[in-house]
Amino acid sequence: MRCLGCFVLTKEVYCKKCKKALFATQKVSTTLDFDKKEFISATIELSEQMSISGVQDKISLKIENKKLIPTSTDGVYILKPVPLMDYGELLTDVAKNEHFTMQLASQVFKLETAKNALIAFSDGELAYITKRFDRVDGAKIKQEDFSSLARQTEQSHGKNYKYDYSYEEMGGLIKKYLPSYKIELLKFFKLILFNYLVGNGDAHLKNFSVLQRSTKEYGLSPAYDLLSSSLHLPNESRTALELFKEYESKSFEANGFYAYDDFMMFSKILEIPQKMAEGVIEDFLSKEKATLKLLDNSFLSNEAKERYREIFLDRIRAVFYRFNT
Ligand SMILES: [Zn+2]
Repeated sequence: MRCLGCFVLTKEVYCKKCKKALFATQKVSTTLDFDKKEFISATIELSEQMSISGVQDKISLKIENKKLIPTSTDGVYILKPVPLMDYGELLTDVAKNEHFTMQLASQVFKLETAKNALIAFSDGELAYITKRFDRVDGAKIKQEDFSSLARQTEQSHGKNYKYDYSYEEMGGLIKKYLPSYKIELLKFFKLILFNYLVGNGDAHLKNFSVLQRSTKEYGLSPAYDLLSSSLHLPNESRTALELFKEYESKSFEANGFYAYDDFMMFSKILEIPQKMAEGVIEDFLSKEKATLKLLDNSFLSNEAKERYREIFLDRIRAVFYRFNT
C-alpha cells in the first residue's frame, strides 16, 4: 500500500520517514480510535471549554497512552476531516486535496510546509492531520498571522477582512517586519505562484504567518492550509487576494487573468532580481510531469484527479502566456 504521508509504497500505514517526521520516536497508534461522530461531539465539548461557539471543522490532538486524543490544551496536531458544512463539489475529496497539495508543495516544488499526512478514523474514513509548527517539545513559539500584522480584524474591516488586501501589500509587511526579507520575499513569491498553479483561491491573510526562529528573528512560517479550492468551487476567483494594490497590466486588462507579465511585475515589486524571477517561473513551469505523476499516486478520487489535472494544466498555460512578445 501507499504511505498515508508521502505516497511511497510501504508495508505499514506510514513509511519510516513520515513516521519519524510526524511522531519522532514516540510510539503511537497510526489509526484514530474514534470516528467522525465522536469527533463532532468532541469538538462541541472542547469548544465549550474554550468558550468558542458550536461545531468546529478541526480539532487539536495530543498523544496520550500511545493514542492520539482530542484536547483543548497542549495540542501537538490538528485534525481536519472532510468539512461538515457544505463546501462545494467533490466534498469527500477535501481532506485528500489538502494533503496532496501540501505534499506537492514540499516534494515537487520544494516549498517548506507544515508536516502532514492523512490518518484514518476508526471506521476507515480519512482525515487530514498536520503537526503544529508553533510548538516545539511542548514550548510555544511566537507566531502571528498576516491579518494581525496588517491590523485587519472583523471589527476594524468587516466580514471580508481576510480578503481585503493585496499580495503586493503583504510583500510590504514582509519587508517591514522581517530582517531577512530578501530571502523571505523570494519564498513568498514562490508560494503565491504555487497557489496560482494549483488553483488555491483561499490563500487569504490568515493563511500566512510569521514565526519566531531560534535566533529570535521572525521569518515566514512553513506553508499551511494549501489546497486546490477551485476543485470544489470552480467559479470562485483565481486568487484570494489580488496581486497588486492598484497596478493592472495590459495583459490582465485584455484577458482578465494573471499571466507571465503579471508575475514578472509582481516579482519586480517584491524586489526579486529579474533573472532570478525568470528562473523560478521557468523552474515551476517545468514541473508538470512530476506534478501529474504525484497526482496519480495520491488518494484523490479519479474524478478529483482529473479535475485537478485540468486546473493545473490550465494555470500552467496561463503563466506561460506572454502578452508582450
Ligand atoms: Zn511516507
